[in-house]
Amino acid sequence: MAVSFSPAYISTRGTSPEVDFAGALLAGVAPDGGLYVPRDWPSLRQMPSDPGAAALASAVLAPFIGEALPTGALDRATVRLSEQFLRPEATPLVELSPGLFVLELFHGPTAAFKDYAMQMVAVLAEAALSVRDERLLLVTATSGDTGAAAVRAFGGVERIDLVVLHPLGRVSPVQRLQMTTTVADNVLNLAVRGDFDDCQRLVKALLKDPGLRAARRLSSVNSINWARLAGQIPYYASAARALGSEAGRATYVVPTGNFGDAFAGWGARRMGVPMAGLVAATNRNDALARALESGVYQQAPAHPTASVSMDVQAPSNFERLVFEASGRDADLTRGLFEDFSRNGRVTLPDDLLAALRREVSAVSVSEAETAQEIARTWAECGRVICPHTAVALHAARALDRSAGPVVALSTAHPAKFPEAVEAALGFAPERPSQLEGLEGRAERFETVEPTLEAVLAAIGAR
Ligand SMILES: *Cc1c(COP(=O)(O)O)cnc(C)c1O
Repeated sequence: MAVSFSPAYISTRGTSPEVDFAGALLAGVAPDGGLYVPRDWPSLRQMPSDPGAAALASAVLAPFIGEALPTGALDRATVRLSEQFLRPEATPLVELSPGLFVLELFHGPTAAFKDYAMQMVAVLAEAALSVRDERLLLVTATSGDTGAAAVRAFGGVERIDLVVLHPLGRVSPVQRLQMTTTVADNVLNLAVRGDFDDCQRLVKALLKDPGLRAARRLSSVNSINWARLAGQIPYYASAARALGSEAGRATYVVPTGNFGDAFAGWGARRMGVPMAGLVAATNRNDALARALESGVYQQAPAHPTASVSMDVQAPSNFERLVFEASGRDADLTRGLFEDFSRNGRVTLPDDLLAALRREVSAVSVSEAETAQEIARTWAECGRVICPHTAVALHAARALDRSAGPVVALSTAHPAKFPEAVEAALGFAPERPSQLEGLEGRAERFETVEPTLEAVLAAIGAR
């Protein structure tokens, strides 16, 4: 007898009704301001015998979705990994030197790891909307990679309109062209006269705007969205499968901004993917590393670095880790994060701090170390890496490899960040096929002042 089941999602702040996977996907943030997590973490009992990336992703994601989406939606989503990624295994694991690996996550259509989940989420979102016969307006702020991946994944998708806000003149030319040369007419690119924080502030204001909320169903596709986060869990399982009998001794080093990718690693371990340890590597925007060291979680002004996609001062997914490490204490989590958003600073209780340290460690890597790592990896291994990967690899080298394999996540192709690579190596990286031919195409974007009124007018004028 088939039993219908749809796993429930709860808010880290404890006062929102439970929703299913489709509800969490379409909502983004929970109504109480918290983030959705599974009420019961599923377990990955067995790796599928099919060696393909799509089959593995389906096996990992199925227990998170249950019957919350129409039959076939998940397989249509995961098949994109085989269709859109330029490697048969989607995310190859490459050994750089004995025991030191990189997990290459950048073979998707926009050459950054965000493609992996975003490609799938676009299909899942379309399926959720068609059941409800609804449309969705997605708004997202980007410092470059999220916007490019979102435009590519959601461009042309039915029932969805996408608005992407990027800071005018502050994303790399390649990143801008990836967004603005789309021909999809459901995408609106706004270049905001301001910085990334202005874009993020405007997106938050849009999501709360009563007029817009009355007119449209609204959500966001950054990693606060549970579906995007879940969509990043399968590549940890893929790495574990590639490591075979060594997998249980492996430590993963994750280049970290909003802590989404690293929390996906935590989730992988929580559902039974073999793993020994998890290290979050940040650039000099190191609120997370300082919190784990001192117990004080404090917002600081974001410093521009070469690893721009990690220039985040208050990593949003830290809330999910706090919720889990506190033994799922929603009152504590709500208190801490409400306090943090009021004061920009909170002190973590001692037992919570000890628990957090058992779950992950965090290290911060300087700009000089990042550049040195790009040069060293080229000199010793003949490989050109991006600055984000360099942050992780630098932290990875410091770990004891006799304890087991060390895997650094490689989150972008170096050709997305030619300036930083050229500064470290004296030459620019070669472009992969996904990034060729961008310059010849027509661009479409509107430039707006950094005000809610200007952005609303631009959206309304469509
Ligand atoms: C977004 C991004 C990161 C950071 O990922 P989080 O999930 O925000 O921690 C790291 N590297 C690259 C290239 C990115 O685009």
